[in-house]
Amino acid sequence: MALNLFRAILETVQDFIAPPLCVLCRQYSEQLLCPSCLTLLEKLRIRPPRCYRCGAPMYGRKCKRCHGIKLPYTLARGAYLYTGPVAHVVEAMKYHGFRSLISWMANQMLPLMEEFTGQLLVPIPLHPTRIRERGFSQTKALVQALSQQTGLPVGELLERTRHTRSQTTLEPQERLRNVRGAFQARVFFPEPVILVDDVMTTGATIKEAAKILLKSGVPRVEVLVFAITP
Ligand SMILES: [Zn+2]
Ligand SMILES: [Zn+2]
Repeated sequence: MALNLFRAILETVQDFIAPPLCVLCRQYSEQLLCPSCLTLLEKLRIRPPRCYRCGAPMYGRKCKRCHGIKLPYTLARGAYLYTGPVAHVVEAMKYHGFRSLISWMANQMLPLMEEFTGQLLVPIPLHPTRIRERGFSQTKALVQALSQQTGLPVGELLERTRHTRSQTTLEPQERLRNVRGAFQARVFFPEPVILVDDVMTTGATIKEAAKILLKSGVPRVEVLVFAITP
């Protein structure tokens, strides 16, 4: 807690003494992201046609990502492809203390919610150890920002039962094994929900979390992420 407070104070002091710089290119910018970086990011926005189920861009009639695969969620949507400057935005938010990016990220995700019927925003929970390392939970911060904009309540229906290895260095099959049994449901919720994460890579974590929600009695799971790995 003291560490969090210290970080918050440090961020405020930095805002006073340092000239405002763009998070990505570190050039002078009144906004968090400068116009030229925003243009670069815009090129990576996922636009229709997208797969109705997994939300990936569609180049043919069958989705390369999810065709023939059973998914525990009804539909998933992501605002951007997770690559280049989009990945840098996520890294800056997660690892370099640019928490102010959260509300910008949430704003990019908002229009995608038009297709959703979920009544509750559910963050993918992080293990307490990871929250301590990072100083905050980015998924919880994202759902709080989304909740403020939409008026939908936040429900922490899931909890981590164990600390999983970071997924980044694992192969897809290993990722599935790594997250198996990593979550458990805390409360029963009888309405459709929106499961929120910052990034969907192979989708192993999200699938495992959605499975547990369905098992707990949630009738329908929809997934909202900031970015999807191409
Ligand atoms: Zn910039
Ligand atoms: Zn798909």
